[in-house]
Amino acid sequence: MGSLDSLHHVSGWAAHDASGQVSPIGYTVRETGPNDVLIKVLFCGICHTDLHQLRNDYGASKYPMVAGHEVTGLVAEVGKDVKGFKDGDRVGVGCLVGSCHGCKPCKQDMEQYCPKRIWTYNDVSPDGRPTYGGFANFMIVDQSFVLKIPDNLPLDAAAPLLCAGITVYSPMKHFGMTEPGKRCGVIGLGGVGHMGVKFAKAFGLHVTVISTSPSKENEARLVLGADAFLLSTDEKQMQAAAQSLDYIIDTVPSPHPLDPYLALLDMNGKLIILGVVPSPLQFVTANIILGRRLIAGSFIGSIKETSEMLNFCVEKNVSCLIETIQADYLNKSMKRLEKNDVRYRFVVDIGKAFESKPQAS
Ligand code: NAP
Ligand code: ZN
Ligand code: ZN
Repeated sequence: MGSLDSLHHVSGWAAHDASGQVSPIGYTVRETGPNDVLIKVLFCGICHTDLHQLRNDYGASKYPMVAGHEVTGLVAEVGKDVKGFKDGDRVGVGCLVGSCHGCKPCKQDMEQYCPKRIWTYNDVSPDGRPTYGGFANFMIVDQSFVLKIPDNLPLDAAAPLLCAGITVYSPMKHFGMTEPGKRCGVIGLGGVGHMGVKFAKAFGLHVTVISTSPSKENEARLVLGADAFLLSTDEKQMQAAAQSLDYIIDTVPSPHPLDPYLALLDMNGKLIILGVVPSPLQFVTANIILGRRLIAGSFIGSIKETSEMLNFCVEKNVSCLIETIQADYLNKSMKRLEKNDVRYRFVVDIGKAFESKPQAS
């Protein structure tokens, strides 16, 4: 560990308890080690997982907590063994900043399933310090968890790709949900769900948004390009759509019955659960047995796959629909996210908050 002077002094916004309210905080992070990349954060998306964590929904939150895991910015400094990054490069960081590099998932380039994964925040770095996320002006990250952001992707709209984007791209690829013409439903038109619609369209699927919000129908069809819209609270609509889908991506963040959605799946249909629901979900087993349906889950994607996804976004012109906010709006934006009032991802303009004081020392 370096002397106090060689540590980087960082300013951010932290929650101090389960109210989730954030306020300014100052802290130090380790000096730039041989494999480290110091990143000047410019933008950070707000994922529903941030809300879950800030409010201690899973009972494992540690405070103070500097959240944020959809981070983009510029390289400010690199360690002596860093290959592939240099000062000024456009980069991003997602949900993880470390793994063991030796276990089976790590060796198969699926480090997100490493039992020793290190979360971007609410975790502990190998140097014993807490990890702090992207609601701050600087982050220091091992080079293996830093991604290059392609030049054609704007840094603000690219930020949510690093969690919301890869969270749907990865299972769609893994579970073979990419066959053009197949019918895909997306439950919940929020940050993750709207990326589900975008990727499903980019793969050539017929897309049905399954939503509790009638007010989202026009935008779903006209802006996001959905082919159909199903109001999940309307039983008649749901019954009329029975067995009409091959795949469903479920992004609901709170407890919900699975049976009405399973009924929408055709034979051999797949329901992929992405929402991290704090309590158990239930379903009637006959609803998967009689139809050979599959229920599975998936967690973000690897660095390799995220890099592939970023290139796919350039190729297919896919990006996130964002509402850019200033840092002083963080607490209000969390309240709005809780009330399902965001189209479709808040992205905090972190760089703007530090325009007059850009240096880490
Ligand atoms: P979000 O922006 O809040 O979107 C969730 C959407 O779900 C809402 O827009 C709403 O859409 C719908 N919804 C909300 N409450 C509902 C309810 N009670 N019943 C039915 N639908 C409801 O959240 P997000 O950032 O997309 O995250 C969604 C979930 O995925 C969270 O639990 C998050 O922790 C999790 N997540 C998981 C991963 C992973 O790797 N698996 C990665 C990122 C996030 P409508 O208005 O259209 O109904
Ligand atoms: Zn996330
Ligand atoms: Zn590992």
